[in-house]
Amino acid sequence: MSAWQCAIRGCGAQFPDAEATIRHQATAHDTHTCRICDADVPEGYFAIRHALDEHSRAEYVRAYEFDADAVREREWVKTVVESAVDVDDLAEQLADDEG
Ligand SMILES: [Zn+2]
Ligand SMILES: [Zn+2]
Repeated sequence: MSAWQCAIRGCGAQFPDAEATIRHQATAHDTHTCRICDADVPEGYFAIRHALDEHSRAEYVRAYEFDADAVREREWVKTVVESAVDVDDLAEQLADDEG
């Protein structure tokens, strides 16, 4: 499998696996403020998961001015990440790191 790349604008850092990529996004980048509910969430995968899990697709499209392809792309990223990483376990680890 090829290297994973941080997709956050202006970054492009590469990592050997999905977990390292998400950990980087959640720790090296500022938090993302959800445009729908104003929650502060880790940037990257966790921001995508928040929007897709907590909000409807219609809200997501409207708040972020996405088209259908942009939402599909994020749904795909979420699926790929979740097939490669135990994200709930990772979220707990990240929370422990902060504490
Ligand atoms: Zn990055
Ligand atoms: Zn939200």
